[in-house]
Amino acid sequence: MLIREFISETNKNKMISDLLKYYKVGSVKVKTKSMKDHAHYNVDTGTLELSTRYKTIKKRQIEEFLITILHEIYHAMDAKKYGWKKFKDMYEMEMNLLIQKGKHQYKDNKYEIEAEKFGQGIWKTWNRKFKKEGLF
Ligand SMILES: [Zn+2]
Repeated sequence: MLIREFISETNKNKMISDLLKYYKVGSVKVKTKSMKDHAHYNVDTGTLELSTRYKTIKKRQIEEFLITILHEIYHAMDAKKYGWKKFKDMYEMEMNLLIQKGKHQYKDNKYEIEAEKFGQGIWKTWNRKFKKEGLF
């Protein structure tokens, strides 16, 4: 049953819009573009970018999909909390500090670590909820 392997575009978009609504990041700029990652928060422009490359996703991609979206939403929540320009300054300061210390600008970045922890910690809850709603 090949068809069942895929999650429809409608259901994929429903998951994204539910997550954006739930985390109240509606005031953050959202843009769609063709890119490899499912989502990306652009610190320089304060924009949450969503990929248009995958119209549908496979069931086995759901974990990566949810973790990525949740990770990027976490950055958007930070941007909303501090104001995106201030968050951009904070993020750059963190990167400069890490470079001075000879550490990695992303791997050791506290904003990246927090965002990843958030995504890893909560994706299963959303996975269960979306499954229960029959989205996949
Ligand atoms: Zn990140």
